[in-house]
Amino acid sequence: MKLIASIASMAMFLMPTIALSGQGFDLIVLGALGGIQDSNLSSYLIRPHGDRNAIACDAGSLVNGLKVAQDKGVFRDVKVPEGSTDSVIGHVLKSEIKGYLISHAHLDHVQGLVVASPDDSNKTIYALPSVSAEIEQTYFNWKAWPNMLDRGQPPQLRKYRLEDLKSGETKDLAGTTMTVTPFPLNHAGAESTAFLIESGGDAILCFGDTGPDEVQKASNMQDIWKAIADKVRQRTLKAIILEVSYTSDRQDNLLFGHMTPKWVHKTLHVLDQESGGNALKGLPVVVSHIKYSLTNEQPQEAIRKELEAGNDLGVQFVIPEQGALYHFR
Ligand SMILES: [Zn+2]
Ligand SMILES: [Zn+2]
Repeated sequence: MKLIASIASMAMFLMPTIALSGQGFDLIVLGALGGIQDSNLSSYLIRPHGDRNAIACDAGSLVNGLKVAQDKGVFRDVKVPEGSTDSVIGHVLKSEIKGYLISHAHLDHVQGLVVASPDDSNKTIYALPSVSAEIEQTYFNWKAWPNMLDRGQPPQLRKYRLEDLKSGETKDLAGTTMTVTPFPLNHAGAESTAFLIESGGDAILCFGDTGPDEVQKASNMQDIWKAIADKVRQRTLKAIILEVSYTSDRQDNLLFGHMTPKWVHKTLHVLDQESGGNALKGLPVVVSHIKYSLTNEQPQEAIRKELEAGNDLGVQFVIPEQGALYHFR
């Protein structure tokens, strides 16, 4: 894992916009937190390294995330085509983000998409059917917001094609070299999603909100670990984006379908076993969805310490910073 805080190299600018197989993925953090700071909510721009064509995994904060990334210099290499009136942020939003993967319809995962939609370009929103139905009925219903979709309450403005995904089935992400395979998650009764994104033989796994199997009395996490164990063993899985909402002292009956460091250690041990043991050393795990606190202390440091204290697998925990660009390979 390489953190490129503010420099996007000239080499990248000169590269053709094709996926370079085996180069891993760029991750630009558009929103790192799980609430309650409205400018910094779950959203991860993902693209094959060396390729400009990206997908956003969740869209809690969108334009503000792009703005913070621009302020950090991450888009220094972006060339807005001559004749376009778009700003750099406008160009990345409209021309480089080719679609959205929405894990679930909670507001902190979709608000950036909804409010930016009038000025966005035509593209596809990918989600499991239960999530698509929520997006249609809760937001794009001409009450909360005009209907930007190609289905639901008329008139349909058809800016976004809402594409239903099928659990475990791989689909091309239009306009990119990437594919996606969704896996359902149990988020305190609500259906959420983990997205396996693949390109050129590499993979990255982006989790939406989820509770631990043991607390949810479910096997969703274990099922995903089984499905990706080979990729972990072969080191083609380059990173996992996984939620940790609270510190480990949070009682299980107050998790509301979320994870703590204690539960992350537990579930990563299941993945390690499924992958044949001693398989996670150095694997980047990006810790998403930490909740912003209204007390005088933010929980990042405590969560980082708890994750490191029990890190007998040698996982590389990354506490992401909004606007930062990471290269996982
Ligand atoms: Zn959330
Ligand atoms: Zn949620």
